[in-house]
Amino acid sequence: MSDALHVVCPHCHSINRVPTTRLNQQPNCGQCHQALFVAHPVELTHINFTRHISRSDIPVLVDFWAPWCGPCKMMAPHFAQAAQLLEPNMRLAKVDTEAEQSLGAQYGIRSIPTLVLFRHGREVARQAGAMSAQDIVRWAQAQN
Ligand SMILES: [Zn+2]
Repeated sequence: MSDALHVVCPHCHSINRVPTTRLNQQPNCGQCHQALFVAHPVELTHINFTRHISRSDIPVLVDFWAPWCGPCKMMAPHFAQAAQLLEPNMRLAKVDTEAEQSLGAQYGIRSIPTLVLFRHGREVARQAGAMSAQDIVRWAQAQN
């Protein structure tokens, strides 16, 4: 394992190099000085999506959802809770497939909610259907 990890800031989207030993010590962004981990999923768009999934050295778990989807709304608080439990060893992110239709199409999202886990820009696992916080954490950790 390398002694530093690249972490993309959820606020200004700049790439930070964080020593592995400091990952658990609530590191701040060198650019905007805000916390790199806020225990909450980051909302991604087509503008910053690729940067987050490909330039991050920690796996990125993405919830593809839509505002009109009941099960997605039900899962949202569970996904937020999972962020508290999985950070800083994983980044949790959300993509609104209604606002970001090109991303949904690019990743072949056929039903929502769908969770997709990326490592260094590559999809390593996906799971469709709403899950509880506990199940999200268990599923995500099982892919590591
Ligand atoms: Zn920043």
